[in-house]
Amino acid sequence: MSSPYFMQSSSVLARRGSQSAGSSPADSLRSKLTSRRKYDTVKVEAEEARINELGPSSAPLLTGIRLEHIHQLPAQVKTEPAPVKNPHGRRRRQLTVEYDRDDGVSPMKTENWEPPEWKKQLGFIREMRSSRDAPVDNMGAEKCHDTEAPAHVRRFQVLVSLMLSSQTKDQVTATAMQKLRAHGCTVENILATDDETLGKLIYPVGFWRNKVKYVKLTSAMLQKEYGGDIPNTVEGLVRLPGVGPKMAHLAMDIAWDQVSGIGVDTHVHRISNRLGWLKKLSKNPEETRKALEEWLPRELWSEINWLLVGFGQQVCLPVNPLCSVCLNQYSCPSAHKNSPAKKPKAEPSHTSNQKSTFKIKTEPQPETAVKDEMASKELTSLKYIIS
Ligand code: SF4
Repeated sequence: MSSPYFMQSSSVLARRGSQSAGSSPADSLRSKLTSRRKYDTVKVEAEEARINELGPSSAPLLTGIRLEHIHQLPAQVKTEPAPVKNPHGRRRRQLTVEYDRDDGVSPMKTENWEPPEWKKQLGFIREMRSSRDAPVDNMGAEKCHDTEAPAHVRRFQVLVSLMLSSQTKDQVTATAMQKLRAHGCTVENILATDDETLGKLIYPVGFWRNKVKYVKLTSAMLQKEYGGDIPNTVEGLVRLPGVGPKMAHLAMDIAWDQVSGIGVDTHVHRISNRLGWLKKLSKNPEETRKALEEWLPRELWSEINWLLVGFGQQVCLPVNPLCSVCLNQYSCPSAHKNSPAKKPKAEPSHTSNQKSTFKIKTEPQPETAVKDEMASKELTSLKYIIS
């Protein structure tokens, strides 16, 4: 009984009652028409406000309602500028503006952008990596599985070595994988192994306690959902506990021989930023992966991980990179910014024309790896020191 309609009707009735005593029929009719116009105007305004709120998707239905009400209105209301059209007009204009704003970031520019000297820099990195004696070359995830094992077991071992390698030096991962393989690195054996024993087998990989849990949970999922094999899609792989995009893309490449994306770890992330291989500095490896994939030719996606990881282990170190021996020191925007060595004044001719006699020192051997792993964790907490 408190609806505006009821109150309006009551007031009309009340006025009609008070007028009927001393007014003419013409006065009474005029009063009724005035009240009706006021009510219709209020109702139309309410409908318009509702249309504005609901937006253009409801336009056909609401337009019908609006026309119906307009049809009931006296002539003076019909001839007013059509207010309901304006909200839709404004909405369309807003959409156009948003589209224009998106369009301002030219897709052509993004697709065509590439770092000015990346081909020359990549060539130098290949040259610096030509001896293939970085830890990743002999102890990376590609080298940690049993080549004699059945295919599904090899793939599982690739995945496990990738899981163990996170925040861990290759030497430590390789040693842990050797112990695991001697124990029996299959889905069934891992599930039959208690957490304490598994912890002892993989210690001292980084975050080994968490990795015990992740490896067990992942093994259980693989047994239940994939018959003991690993998923053959990135989407399936990232569903596994402890498996992120970097591991998923590397697993696709190494285990399934399919290049699905660039595997970006801390080395690839750091070096891409230092070399100016990203349109703007990126904050994390996943951002770096997307930015690299925008311009780097797909046929290089697999090689780039291996190249940059080894280059980061031997030359472009996280702290104090060896810029003074790096063949890219004359084109790298970060050269000598993180290195105590003084920048040479001019580019020697051999870096541009002749084959260099590039010599580098390989990273410390496994016996010092535990100490280095602790240092590595401290560095990681500094969130990728980038110049
Ligand atoms: S010049 Fe220095 S910072 Fe640049 S890529 Fe070489 S080692 Fe890294």
